[in-house]
Amino acid sequence: MSRIEMKTPIVEMDGDEMTRIIWKEIKDIVILPFVDLKTEYFDLGLPNRDKTEDKVTIDAANRTKELGVAVKCATITPNAQRMTEYDLHSMWKSPNGTIRAILDGTVFRSPILVNGIKPFVSCWEKPITIARHAYGDVYRNTEFLVDGPAKADLVVTYPDGRQEKQTIFEYKGGGVLQGQYNTDASITAFAKSCFQYSLDTKQDLWFATKDTISKIYDRRFKDIFESVYKEEYEAKFAEAGITYFYTLIDDAVARVMRSKGGFVWALKNYDGDVMSDMLASACGSLAMMTSVLVSPDGKYEYEAAHGTVTRHYYRYLKGEQTSTNPMATLFAWSGALRKRAQLDGLQDLENFAARLEKSAVSTIESGIITGDLDSLLDHPDKKVVNTSDFLTHVASNL
Ligand code: NAP
Ligand code: MG
Repeated sequence: MSRIEMKTPIVEMDGDEMTRIIWKEIKDIVILPFVDLKTEYFDLGLPNRDKTEDKVTIDAANRTKELGVAVKCATITPNAQRMTEYDLHSMWKSPNGTIRAILDGTVFRSPILVNGIKPFVSCWEKPITIARHAYGDVYRNTEFLVDGPAKADLVVTYPDGRQEKQTIFEYKGGGVLQGQYNTDASITAFAKSCFQYSLDTKQDLWFATKDTISKIYDRRFKDIFESVYKEEYEAKFAEAGITYFYTLIDDAVARVMRSKGGFVWALKNYDGDVMSDMLASACGSLAMMTSVLVSPDGKYEYEAAHGTVTRHYYRYLKGEQTSTNPMATLFAWSGALRKRAQLDGLQDLENFAARLEKSAVSTIESGIITGDLDSLLDHPDKKVVNTSDFLTHVASNL
């Protein structure tokens, strides 16, 4: 059988532990037999990040800016315990943080829905994609414990020495105080990524803040979204038959619970953190959650939302069989192949990406599953298999 051709290579970022094992199995079992795969390989596994003093992560991100599409395996973010485990020279930063900073992107997460695994919210028929603004607000705050009567002021000093000052509160006793910030540049990049992603995937975009209470801070988010929409996207949305919808965050939460799904929900940093955990657990399993980083100038990095599944890896090292779910990592590959196909005008490759996803979903729907789905799938005759047997079933469906 002749294999499907590619034109431009995908940036391939290998990773760590169990997901590194699954990475190779996915390529060997469901991609390489069918596709004449072209990638530029970067080994982001922790030993190589240590060896290259993390230069490999920066190189991979910069190459993604040039080639436009990347696929990334989960990687270890080192902590004190990993320092000894891997004998590291330094506690290297989170690769995802480094890549996000270089691409200046927004992360979009959506669940893979299959028949037989019902979301806990029964009216959700289509996936809801959450876009979280991963910059600023409470995550970069400055906090004080005020330990007695005191006056707290907010002061802004411009380069020419001009100052703006307001009293926040006059404390009669102890309390707490917090300062937060964000920037027009980051909010604009976030807005553009959201409009672009919605357009790409032909889904409505919802955005929500608390601008009735936060009349300047949250209002700024609302206004920037509105002006990016008017200036760059209103006509394109109309042509694609999709809409942009702004509402208050509490109203949005209430509407989401009554919706059929099938839209992109843009959220400020804290709201996105909280709501993405709600969405993931309402849809069943972290192993079925996909993630893509989209830069405002249209560069894409696909990955699974879960980590390196360390506990399974330690069992694997002892020679035990593991039944780790490869779905999210497989969808990262199919997402990257589809995007590459669309950019290069390769219809066969685009069809392959769709067939790969369909084969994976129908494998689960036929009752062939990994261990994590055993308690979730409603099927009269289900069978838990190991990861490579699962992938072999996907390949035979293909
Ligand atoms: P994790 O790797 O997501 O795993 C947490 C638990 O969730 C697993 O022990 C497993 O539960 C279940 N799980 C996750 N993915 C699964 C899959 N594909 N199939 C079956 N079960 C799955 O999170 P973690 O253990 O907190 O983190 C491990 C490492 O990953 C850390 O070093 C962290 O730095 C890194 N991490 C990387 C990324 C990334 O690269 N994007 C994201 C998060 C974490 P059971 O053990 O109960 O089966
Ligand atoms: Mg969270």
